[in-house]
Amino acid sequence: MYSRICPRCGRGDRPFIGFLCNLCYVNEFGVAEIPRSIDFTYCRVCGSYKYQGLWVEGVGSVSETLSEYLLIVLSQKIKPTRYIEEAWVKDISVSVVGEPGIHDVKVRLAGKTGNVEVEEVKTVKVKALTTICPSCSKKATKTGYNAIVQVRPAIGSLDSAFKAELWSILEDLGVRARSSIISVDEVKEGVDILVDDQNVARVIASKLKAKWGGVVNASFKITGSKPGGGRKGVLALSVKVLNVRAGTLLSYMGSPHIYVGPTSRGVLLVDVGKGLTVEAKLEDLARSRVLDAGDYVGYNILVYRLTADLGGSLYFMDESRGSKVEVERGKVKLYVDSLKVGGYYLVYQLGDQLYILGEARVEQGS
Ligand SMILES: [Zn+2]
Ligand SMILES: [Zn+2]
Repeated sequence: MYSRICPRCGRGDRPFIGFLCNLCYVNEFGVAEIPRSIDFTYCRVCGSYKYQGLWVEGVGSVSETLSEYLLIVLSQKIKPTRYIEEAWVKDISVSVVGEPGIHDVKVRLAGKTGNVEVEEVKTVKVKALTTICPSCSKKATKTGYNAIVQVRPAIGSLDSAFKAELWSILEDLGVRARSSIISVDEVKEGVDILVDDQNVARVIASKLKAKWGGVVNASFKITGSKPGGGRKGVLALSVKVLNVRAGTLLSYMGSPHIYVGPTSRGVLLVDVGKGLTVEAKLEDLARSRVLDAGDYVGYNILVYRLTADLGGSLYFMDESRGSKVEVERGKVKLYVDSLKVGGYYLVYQLGDQLYILGEARVEQGS
């Protein structure tokens, strides 16, 4: 098939590159030249790495980031040897990089000339150095913030479920906006979010308001003037969030009320004792607290068992009175995820409206 005999190995059954067979060519000249050693500087806090003087976000673990970095750098620096027309980095195997120091990394290079393809494995000495990137050091010292978002609960304190939702809102912001957040601190009154970019702070405040309802108050504290003129200062956005869900029983003016939802001027509540709807101002809820509806069974809150869901009506059994109750579906305000026949529910009747506040804990056999 190949008429030429390799002058180095004497074989005639291999394709040629230049004046040698492919294997002898790779042994003699290699596929391509790449740097023997490379410096890799990464941030030990956030995992971003330095590339051409700039900090670039990492892609996962330090090892994964190093693979990506080497692929970029080596692809730029690779030089095919004399008779190779084209060469590329085929594979990089970085073993786990846990600490700074020298790491040997095996790099598989491939090249081709005509339709002959050859490969070679080379070792690159990576000198891994750690530091703290400028944005992490800014965060560590909490300097350089231009805005603060103060998340404050309308009622009581922020519970862990609300804090978890707050985190997921911040996670969903996108990389650019997220990198502007300098710190998120739990304080006695709620949560403070220090932000570099005032526009990002406005976005956060409006997302919190959209999620939970509430009011945002803005104030601006001047701290100096900008070099080119204009005011420099910290934008404070106080977000009073409605940290209750529809159907929650809470104390208001000393008596139990059901929270229905926000209105244009405040919130709508149902006074459980008097059987009236009440519009309250958000500020007036500050001293409210969340009550356990189960503690108010008998105090106008009843336990109903759902017996049937038929033809646009729900049929219940009021076990305490031993009576049957039929309610049109349109007159039911549901504050549970779903209803199931046979289930026990905490209910409140106001006029012809039935509020289903939650599932009732009923002890079996009683
Ligand atoms: Zn040969
Ligand atoms: Zn960093």
